[in-house]
Amino acid sequence: MKRGSAKTAFLTIAAFLVLFLVLVFFQFRSLKKKVTLLSCDAIKQELSDSLSKFRAEHPEKKFPPGTIIDLEKVYKDGYIKHYQHCPQGGTYIINRYGEIYCTFHNSNLGE
Ligand SMILES: [Zn+2]
Repeated sequence: MKRGSAKTAFLTIAAFLVLFLVLVFFQFRSLKKKVTLLSCDAIKQELSDSLSKFRAEHPEKKFPPGTIIDLEKVYKDGYIKHYQHCPQGGTYIINRYGEIYCTFHNSNLGE
C-alpha cells in the first residue's frame, strides 16, 4: 500500500516536471520568435529612416515597387551603421506605397 502511493507520488511529480519542461520549451520558442521579429523590425526601421534620408538627398532617384534593398551597398554608402540582415533570411523590398517590408516577416505588406 505504501509502495503504491510512493509510486503515484513519483509519477505525479514526473508528470508535473514534464509539463513544466514543455511549457518552458514553448515559452522559449515564443520568446525567440518575438526577439527575432523585434530585431528584424529594428533593421527595417533603420532602413526606412535611411531611405527617407536618401530620398531627401536624391529626390531624382525613384524606387519602383519591387526594388530590393541592397544591404551591402546601403551599408557601404554609410546609410546604416551595421551591415545586418533579417535573422530569418528575409529580403527587404520596397512595396507600391514606397515602404520597406521583409519578405519573411511582413510578406503581407508586399501586395
Ligand atoms: Zn525579417
